[in-house]
Amino acid sequence: MACTGCGEVYRRRYPSQVCGRCNGILEVRYNAAGKAGHALASFWDYENVLPKGRYKHYEVGMTRIIRSHGNANLFFKLETDNPTRSFKDRGSVIEVAKAKEYGYDELVCASTGNMAYSIAYYSKLYGMRVKVFISGNANIDKMRDIRGVGDADITKVRGDFSAAQERASEYAKRRNVFLSGDYCYRKEGQSTVAYEIMAQARNATHIIVPVGNATLISGILKGLGRMEESGELRTMPKVIAVQSTSCMPFVRAFKKGRKIKYEEPKTDADAIAVGMPTFGEQAILGLKEHGGCAVAVSDREMKKAQESFYRDYGIVAEMGGAASIAAARQLKFKEDDLAVAVVSGGNV
Ligand SMILES: [Zn+2]
Repeated sequence: MACTGCGEVYRRRYPSQVCGRCNGILEVRYNAAGKAGHALASFWDYENVLPKGRYKHYEVGMTRIIRSHGNANLFFKLETDNPTRSFKDRGSVIEVAKAKEYGYDELVCASTGNMAYSIAYYSKLYGMRVKVFISGNANIDKMRDIRGVGDADITKVRGDFSAAQERASEYAKRRNVFLSGDYCYRKEGQSTVAYEIMAQARNATHIIVPVGNATLISGILKGLGRMEESGELRTMPKVIAVQSTSCMPFVRAFKKGRKIKYEEPKTDADAIAVGMPTFGEQAILGLKEHGGCAVAVSDREMKKAQESFYRDYGIVAEMGGAASIAAARQLKFKEDDLAVAVVSGGNV
């Protein structure tokens, strides 16, 4: 693992998710054992492009992709198909296994809801305890989901996701518990969305991704990069980041060409209500490198997209998950364009 802040490299099994020198985020570096290929049978067909680990092959991923009724150039990637109805499961199934491998029996995470739901689910399968610090704006449905799926010990924090993150990190240090959440192993698991999309829609030219902590988009960029290196891509799709106009620190930084500044989240789209995205800087670099862009949609537009998506397809997307659908409506498509909107979650 290498620190993206100070550059420190940790060669041996390093049981922490953050740099011991500067607290920076780490990146897992490894040579993939082969190509991602176009496997469409099981998530675990991609194990050769994931970090080596003692994974139990629990059900996850392999989510559907459907064509838009009204627009032949648009597909929806339904991450709501995952066991806890969000993309988080792809990361949790890797990260929880890693925590176990490192000898831990308890994990702690900060969450706006979906993260904790997913971690609680896989921790139970792996027989591990979970402590959750959840942001004050978490919705009641998500609280109920987390309680329903395991025995997580939940503390609702007064404050937003960043406040919850501080509590989780402090708890991990004080009690020597595995800090889980938007860190390096999770990102690797989430890179599998890119492989599936490129197997299901090989001519995809655009991938539209809601951005909260920017781990999903970073994972997608890493997955696409890996496919490009191994000559598996016909063309590199442009990645489009989407945030709410009521919480857009990522979009502002991208457009103004400066570092991300914390912004108090005012959006109702809880899954993307993150004032300081952990993987933000990394994702901005990735977007710039590959010609991607960043846009914002209003809460009202997300609600409308959420409602029409349910009406048209019978599929429940949460507001944050529908951000990509709302953004797709604003795009002008050319004849050969094929955009895939990642519907990232449906917990509402
Ligand atoms: Zn460092």
